Amino acid sequence: MSLITSQKIHINKASSSRINDVDFNNLTFGSVFTDHMFECDFIDGNWQNPTIKPYGPISISPAAKVFHYGQAVFEGMKAYKDDHGKVFLFRPKENLKRINKSSVRMAIPEFPKDVFFEAMHKILELDKDWIKSGLGNSLYIRPFVMATQVGVSASPSNAYKFMILLSPAQAYYTGEVRVVIAQQYSRAADGGVGFAKAAGNYGAQFYPTNLAREKGFQQVIWTDSNEHKYLEEAGTMNVFFRINNTLITAPTNDRILDGITRKSVIAIAEKNNITTEVRKITVSELVNAAKDGSLKEIFGAGTAAVISPVSAFSYEETLYELPKQEPSFASEFKKELMEIQHNLTEDPFNWRYKVL
Ligand SMILES: *Cc1c(COP(=O)(O)O)cnc(C)c1O
Repeated sequence: MSLITSQKIHINKASSSRINDVDFNNLTFGSVFTDHMFECDFIDGNWQNPTIKPYGPISISPAAKVFHYGQAVFEGMKAYKDDHGKVFLFRPKENLKRINKSSVRMAIPEFPKDVFFEAMHKILELDKDWIKSGLGNSLYIRPFVMATQVGVSASPSNAYKFMILLSPAQAYYTGEVRVVIAQQYSRAADGGVGFAKAAGNYGAQFYPTNLAREKGFQQVIWTDSNEHKYLEEAGTMNVFFRINNTLITAPTNDRILDGITRKSVIAIAEKNNITTEVRKITVSELVNAAKDGSLKEIFGAGTAAVISPVSAFSYEETLYELPKQEPSFASEFKKELMEIQHNLTEDPFNWRYKVL
């Protein structure tokens, strides 16, 4: 990994803030950005010129490789503010590890840990007023890397841009999430890039997800690409199944993203003595459990929505509705996770990372 430890982050402050133009009670997820952004370029074999500057358009050649070959990766994480104004991240080292793991798979150079954390501290300090306290409010953080070398030859870029954007987010209710179990299209294949947060993984899901939307479903639960027999994960969430009182989720592999929310749910379940099985689960097991009434819950787990309960799934044109659970595993996990994230409870796992 190339280091630029000796370089200080250059800060170019915005001359005025846009914060008063923002209605924090009416935020559409990921659509409003704070006053500043972070940028660092990989040139001549080194990450250099780390800079925080006003958020705004960047200038980039139309021949930059990212536009032609999709050499780009990203992360999603959040900052939270407690009622005393302290600011925390949730397990941020995991995000750094993962963006570097994604980068390695996409032939992108890894980003240095010290610069990542310094950039996080500095930019959050500048834009801290954009983080609202209150359970569910957060600042969504989007680090990403793209290939910037000019030239359309199909080979890895020798130049990259690492950026961090910040977007205020509200607690949002996904409403009723109805899902389709994939039978034809696949998200990822063995030996592919499914485990990486590589940009192209998401673009490739839009078309089959649109087909599901046209039929009244919001998400697809992807199955293995060989046989469409095993349940894997959703678009940007890992999935959990509750059969009777057992919690089941697929093991991660090179097709499934190793979600931080997923890992945290498993740890909380184990602490609460909930029987948890990390194993392959087949579509037929799910259908049988829905038919005999032992399927109690399905929910997605990911940073953006934390936990999204699924109300129904469709398989082979048959709709299976899930029973209403009160209380549910989904609501319990969501509550415990959010209370840890917002510094409202003990942090037995040491997941909180204090920034300010
Ligand atoms: C980001 C993501 C997740 C969830 O990961 P978290 O670390 O919990 O946010 C799950 N699946 C996919 C495909 C993702 O991109």
